[in-house]
Amino acid sequence: MGEIFNKIKDLHAALPQGVTLVAVSKFHPVEKLLEAYDAGQRHFGESRVQELEQKVPQMPEDVTWHFIGHLQSNKVKKLVRCAQVIQSVDSLKILHEIDKEAAKQGREISVMLQVHVAQEETKFGFASDEIVSLSKEGAFEGLQAVRIVGVMAMATNTEDEAVVKQDFERARDVFEELEKGEFAGRSEFSELSMGMSDDYAWAIERGSTVVRIGSSIFGPREY
Ligand SMILES: *Cc1c(COP(=O)(O)O)cnc(C)c1O
Repeated sequence: MGEIFNKIKDLHAALPQGVTLVAVSKFHPVEKLLEAYDAGQRHFGESRVQELEQKVPQMPEDVTWHFIGHLQSNKVKKLVRCAQVIQSVDSLKILHEIDKEAAKQGREISVMLQVHVAQEETKFGFASDEIVSLSKEGAFEGLQAVRIVGVMAMATNTEDEAVVKQDFERARDVFEELEKGEFAGRSEFSELSMGMSDDYAWAIERGSTVVRIGSSIFGPREY
């Protein structure tokens, strides 16, 4: 068995109960995904719609596909056809477009609200106070085909451990505020997706339930 197989087995053994591993397979060929699948991996994450579309038919049907990239309106239709989870919902506009398209296609899509906690302008997501006030206004109610299952966040890309930990704490605070507030009683709202190859241990310590790990499973990406 190869390195990817062993890495998946090790991660499955090491991650606490209740933490889902999403293997981030963007830019990697299907052969590598199949090796991860053979080791028992079922959740895969991709960040480009076209690449996802190409991989889906080449993989077994029991894979759950997570979309984690920035989503543009003109790709919603294609994405709704092939993803089960869209983690990177960063505006009300895109949320409603997904809902409308999913209803039209007769599909149910799980989504996460991406919250912007990083100290970088380049990252996407709702501001944390925005997400809370929108929630209080009822902006996340009345969807037909979309289930909001939680919150996704990315920490600042920095070597500074304290900054990364603080970002995760802010994401956790937002998640908890929604969970105890407008989403109280909506049991599907239960996921906090944060933590990547270099920082997932800190994310888990701060309540992450979904880690998105790419390079430490599949090696460096070739862009
Ligand atoms: C690429 C990517 C990851 C995985 O990053 P690694 O450092 O390779 O583990 C996780 N989350 C998002 C949103 C990504 O775009």
